[in-house]
Amino acid sequence: MTERVYNFSPGPAVLPLPVLEQVSRDMICLPGAGCSILELGHRTSTFREILSQAQHDLRRLLQIPDNYQILFLQGGSRLQFSMVPLNLLSGASCPAEYIVTGSWGSKALVEARRMGPAEAVWEGGDTNYDRLPPPDSPTGNPAAPYVYFTSNETIQGVQFAREPNAGNVPLVCDASSDFLSRPLDLQQYGMIFACAQKNAGPAGVTVVIIRNDLLQRDTDQLPGYLSYRNHAQEDSLYNTPTTFGVYVVGLVSRWLLEDIGGLDKMDAINRQKAKMLYDVLDQFPDFYRGHAMPECRSQMNVTFRLPSNELQEDFLREAEQRQLHNLKCHRSVGGVRASIYNAMPAEGVTELRDCMLEFAAQHGHSI
Ligand SMILES: *Cc1c(COP(=O)(O)O)cnc(C)c1O
Repeated sequence: MTERVYNFSPGPAVLPLPVLEQVSRDMICLPGAGCSILELGHRTSTFREILSQAQHDLRRLLQIPDNYQILFLQGGSRLQFSMVPLNLLSGASCPAEYIVTGSWGSKALVEARRMGPAEAVWEGGDTNYDRLPPPDSPTGNPAAPYVYFTSNETIQGVQFAREPNAGNVPLVCDASSDFLSRPLDLQQYGMIFACAQKNAGPAGVTVVIIRNDLLQRDTDQLPGYLSYRNHAQEDSLYNTPTTFGVYVVGLVSRWLLEDIGGLDKMDAINRQKAKMLYDVLDQFPDFYRGHAMPECRSQMNVTFRLPSNELQEDFLREAEQRQLHNLKCHRSVGGVRASIYNAMPAEGVTELRDCMLEFAAQHGHSI
């Protein structure tokens, strides 16, 4: 295969073509550096410039207030499942509160419990994580060290439309699969993290945005790399960061600011793309059986099943012939999942919608 296909992979996922083009133009020699980004020292002025530009652009995109630090870490979101409780739970007398709306939140809670007191205040496993807590759910214990949630559950395809109300308790969010897909009110968060490979860049770099006061919670007993305070003090140069990852996250941020025109615009585009597919689910609810309850549907990962495994396999085969790839859902859930992150072009989603309509018609379901 030498042509690019429409890649619906959940992650690592599609990146904007202009970003890939710039990476490949600069791969042999990054302008001004005399070498490629892969060969550039992390303490050079050129790399420091790349790092601060990426922070600056993220700050503009998300309107991040000055009392929050932007860190570029490694270990993916899975390491954050441990770093969050290691840093924020020290000395806690009451449990951290986890709102568990899918597979990732459930894994995060398992890790937190290894580190200190943590409990699920809401758990959607009984209905196979097809829904969220009611929007006006009461806030929990005002003395809790933090409230944790996953803004978009990538595997089940359920997404919070707005933040849960945590009162004055710091809200911690795993935003791995919808980071930079829409504007956020950062003031509502104590901390937000996202591995880049879903929506913001390549695998290997994880963005952490954390409020200054939370940096003070760790006890000085942590292994050095695991302390947010160390990374903040060294401005993400505590050790060698994933320089290539930071560079690409910077390019993606630039693309969002300059080519797309900001996160309001990106959000509007994402809503249109998602609507194209959800309209098909709503037209043929017996044929394309959506997993998420309609009011909790994700704009990023559209999950559904067909009436039988056989039809599902046929559908996936047909899609692949039309250059629509990687639509098979996670092995733990089964079914079809279309991941339509920022960089998935609208044409790819249109093509998928047409494929779904034609496949339904072939099986006797027409409008
Ligand atoms: C992919 C994903 C993770 C895991 O990320 P890694 O970088 O593989 O550790 C965690 N949470 C969410 C919501 C994800 O989508």
